[in-house]
Amino acid sequence: MKTGAVETCGPTQLPPLSPTVHARRLLGLFPGLGLLVAAAVGSDWTVVRQRDRPYVTFANVAHFYQFPEYTHVSRTVSLRSERRVIRAQAGTSEFSINGVRFFANFPLLSIGDDDLISVMDVSKIIEPVLRPSRIQKAEKVETVVLDPGHGGTDQGASSSWGTEKGFALDVALAARRELIRAGYRVEMTRVNDVGVSLEERVNFANRFPKAVFVSIHFNSSSGGAGVESYALAPEGVLSNASSEHHVSAADVERHAGNALDGQNIALTASIHAAVLSRVSAFDRGVRHARFHVLRDIKIPAVLLEGGFISDPAEGQRIATGYYRQQLGTAIAQGIQNYNAAVNYRAGVTSFAVARTNLPPHAHPINEPLGADRPLEPSPLHPPSISINADE
Ligand SMILES: [Zn+2]
Repeated sequence: MKTGAVETCGPTQLPPLSPTVHARRLLGLFPGLGLLVAAAVGSDWTVVRQRDRPYVTFANVAHFYQFPEYTHVSRTVSLRSERRVIRAQAGTSEFSINGVRFFANFPLLSIGDDDLISVMDVSKIIEPVLRPSRIQKAEKVETVVLDPGHGGTDQGASSSWGTEKGFALDVALAARRELIRAGYRVEMTRVNDVGVSLEERVNFANRFPKAVFVSIHFNSSSGGAGVESYALAPEGVLSNASSEHHVSAADVERHAGNALDGQNIALTASIHAAVLSRVSAFDRGVRHARFHVLRDIKIPAVLLEGGFISDPAEGQRIATGYYRQQLGTAIAQGIQNYNAAVNYRAGVTSFAVARTNLPPHAHPINEPLGADRPLEPSPLHPPSISINADE
């Protein structure tokens, strides 16, 4: 682990990923310290080592990010302010920020009276998601590179209703329409049913400045359902990819894309939140992986798995033009939200899943399950297309 790899700072600094503090102090004493602590750069955090890693308490997180309300009952942690909420369960590896589900890179711990989160997860998830406007070198987005997965002889996942390659392209085309309407330049790694290598996709995307990259896929696995989104795993952490469909290297190395860890997770969280706000799908969370298209990319990148083709109900919904249009619209919305957030210099915008609190002028944000139109064959890839048994 490198020293000083913290990539975001402001008036107050994040805890170091390689702390010099090794003492196992008892924590949780911050509420009484008030502004004195926040004002003293470098003393905002008390770092302890657990399982040979730097950790901080959630009380410390609450103090640093100015959540007036911090509670922990049993092992359930809740941090609240007027507009933000973090929930976590010590002993697990997941937490939520504003309703967006994240998988921690290291387990959340409960030690004595204190609930702890790794410095890595504060630095690489909480900070960029809560304060996207402070992400260093986050540029205004002018171009969006959409990457429909698979193509040509590589069908991806498939079912009797269609193929991943066809559905992904249809979602990308829907997103493109929305993005062009919103004033973005849109480039696509493929616009029809052709094979494109992973290297070609990455090289293509890396030609565009002030761009973001969105790779669109669907899952397939027995018993699986729901939507999940991937950002490149930071250096030093394992992938927590759930699917075998897109196998990633189980390494902990640094890749070119790690220069943009903050942008990657913010973009991923923003798109994931927009998707979960628009379609009724099980939330499989924001995760980290080292998929090829995320590793060597030099612009902020996300890989979206927009549902399980293999699930009987979800597979049928994915086969509807309505669902794919909703996904495309959500991707476009997520990109716009990201762009607004990283460029909002007042500094408080973050991302949220809005399943219940809808602006009054919004479209119905939860796609009613009963309102799916009857299955219609995709004009690109009719359901009669042959199934590749290798997938
Ligand atoms: Zn795929």
